[in-house]
Amino acid sequence: DEVLLEVKNLKTYYPIKGGFLRKTIANVKAVDDISFEIKRGETLGLVGESGCGKSTTGRTILRLLEPTSGQILLDGKDITSIKGRTLRDIRKDFQMVFQDPYASLNPMQMVGDIVAEPIINYTGKSLKQLKDEVVELLRRVGLPEDAFYKYAHEFSGGQRQRIGIARALALKPKLIIADEPVSALDVSVQSQVLNLLKELQEEFGLTFLFIAHDLSVVKHMSDRIGVMYLGNIAEIADKDSMYAEPLHPYTQALISAIPEPDPRKKKERIVLQGDVPSPANPPTGCPFHPRCSKAMEECSRIKPQLKEVKPGHQVACHLYK
Ligand code: SF4
Ligand code: MG
Repeated sequence: DEVLLEVKNLKTYYPIKGGFLRKTIANVKAVDDISFEIKRGETLGLVGESGCGKSTTGRTILRLLEPTSGQILLDGKDITSIKGRTLRDIRKDFQMVFQDPYASLNPMQMVGDIVAEPIINYTGKSLKQLKDEVVELLRRVGLPEDAFYKYAHEFSGGQRQRIGIARALALKPKLIIADEPVSALDVSVQSQVLNLLKELQEEFGLTFLFIAHDLSVVKHMSDRIGVMYLGNIAEIADKDSMYAEPLHPYTQALISAIPEPDPRKKKERIVLQGDVPSPANPPTGCPFHPRCSKAMEECSRIKPQLKEVKPGHQVACHLYK
């Protein structure tokens, strides 16, 4: 089958506890009924402002957070509520590349050990047995061979992210979830790391869920793009279709905010009014309606469902019937 990951009506809510008795005082609807799939070998970019639920989506798929309801299928197998050994076995098929290479790697751990650790955990092999394999991984991500015996703190941010990528590749995962993997890096090294991820994808046939807050980063990385707003998917489409003809008013605003490098091309920037509402108290109807310049009467009452309006292009908005 060409579908690797399928997410169906996924909800991840979590309670906010407060007061002396630590009672639940609110329920945060971090992910509120989303559905999408990722095909083998493709990159799905997931974009939205911070707090829109994109990281929660990634962490729920990895089963680092418990889904409230819905289904997660990997290779057609339901992994939504697997536990214990079965969960541990499936975890090696997923790897994560984190946003902050400074925080996600132990600075005092030897690089060879950092990269080998997932293989050691799953196979019980020793670091010595794995040395050649790890050196080859380090080479492949563009690090010098002697990186093996150095410590993470001896490397720059971009190099540390390369270490994180080598570690993520070590178990030949089926899916890599990259959560804003370049947003903590200097702009000058961002594109190098993105290019590396693209090369590795071609070489190893990797499948990515690529999370970013900014549409210009996912543009170069993604085959398809999903735009999230307040725990919902507003629109999902092939990259070209998304940039050429964004349908959702929120996507239109995000795309209008991408800087245009060619000064001869005039671009009208759509400035969004107001702030993102709290996911603990989301608006009724369309979650975007308080900020939408095209809102109609029904938008505050009826929540629009994601539907396909062109082949491969889905949008959740009452403007499209
Ligand atoms: Fe705007 Fe209504 Fe569409 Fe929501 S459903 S994006 S409020 S037009
Ligand atoms: Mg995040």
